[in-house]
Amino acid sequence: MKLLIATHNPGKLKEIRAIFDIDGLELVGSREVPDIPQVIEDADTLQANAIKKALEPSRLMGWWTLADDSGLEVEALGGAPGVYSARYAGPEADYNANNRKLLDELDGETNRRAKFRCVLALASPDGMVETVSGTCEGVISDKPRGVQGFGYDPVFIPDGHDQTFAELDPETKNRISHRARALDAARLKWTEMLREVAG
Ligand code: IMP
Repeated sequence: MKLLIATHNPGKLKEIRAIFDIDGLELVGSREVPDIPQVIEDADTLQANAIKKALEPSRLMGWWTLADDSGLEVEALGGAPGVYSARYAGPEADYNANNRKLLDELDGETNRRAKFRCVLALASPDGMVETVSGTCEGVISDKPRGVQGFGYDPVFIPDGHDQTFAELDPETKNRISHRARALDAARLKWTEMLREVAG
């Protein structure tokens, strides 16, 4: 049985491949499926976007499909940028511009609490869909630090650490990140079911 991993990101595909290593289940990334349409991420929550990204290709291909959506939620900004994390400073914004805007918005703010959240959605070809999520809590730094990772990593200091995600070694980030925690929840919730349907 095929399980489509609805992502064009090779890093995410690799992480997901490692957790759903199930006999009879063939994990296929979006890049390996010619002409698969790009899902428009226009929902206003991470959960709704993840569901949309799983359901649309699942219906189209007739395959079980796993999709994810993630973002950074900053307490003093009422949860922004959240679902709009990728384009916080505008539709063409790069990571630097997003980080600059975030630090500007928090200028003089003492509450710097924030969390990354990742939602994973699993859809079946007959329209069943379920979600799990994972979070990683921390604070926003005063200025960008470090070169590892991507996105908001240079400005996010996870709880229990003094360094930003971009300063920590990638193994540490990958152990405690929102995505790692969502993937743990996914493994607990879905392995047995996928084993049965792959069966
Ligand atoms: P995606 O849905 O995983 O592609 O993430 C959407 C946006 O959230 C990214 O463009 C980043 O701005 C931000 N983001 C998600 N996960 C991370 C992370 O692990 N580190 C830094 N930024 C992230």
